Amino acid sequence: MKELFDGAIRFKEEDFTSHQELYESLKKKQNPHTLFITCADSRVVPNLMTSSDPGDLFVVRNIGNIIPPYTESKSNTLRKGYLATTAAIEYALVILNVKNVIVCGHSNCGACSAIYDPPQSLENAPYVKKWIELLEPVKQKVLALKPASKSKRMWLTEQINIEQQLENLLTYPFVKERFKQGELSIYGWYYIIETGEILNYNMNKREFKPILHQNHKKEKEQ
Ligand SMILES: [Zn+2]
Repeated sequence: MKELFDGAIRFKEEDFTSHQELYESLKKKQNPHTLFITCADSRVVPNLMTSSDPGDLFVVRNIGNIIPPYTESKSNTLRKGYLATTAAIEYALVILNVKNVIVCGHSNCGACSAIYDPPQSLENAPYVKKWIELLEPVKQKVLALKPASKSKRMWLTEQINIEQQLENLLTYPFVKERFKQGELSIYGWYYIIETGEILNYNMNKREFKPILHQNHKKEKEQ
């Protein structure tokens, strides 16, 4: 813990001081351009991975970067739904009016592996167990592809999970509408922890390609 306390002092003295103007401009309100939905995994660090600043990303994190499918906001579903993630997405879109959404999964994701081989310890974690049941459709899609090895099954699951969550995201009426009108851009990213590489999902071709200088430029031109 001492490291974190020391880090807090170092932050104030070094990073904060060198970006003081930026922090002062953020004093009263935030105006993030992007909703970044990712896994709670400690190895995934959104601002670091995207070289972005405070105020740029509205970050929503949960186990497995899951987006629960939208349910009508009637009082009984309001009580039963997966409120935290749904409310954060609603806030980012309806209140903050973000222009982009990135759903970012990652390599070696514990949630994606637990749906096949739940560790014994999950028996003592009923909320986690219940939450990752939302990955059942992903599991079924992957098993239908009959992956030849465990490692293939793993990355297929992690990538199909991103595809599934993008699909779930589009069940939110305010997301669907803005996306259709061209007012909102939606991306699926796959972050590879050990190489630092990020693959970007092409919705039309349904494939992941590394983000490179060239690809990125091409995408901007399109
Ligand atoms: Zn994860």
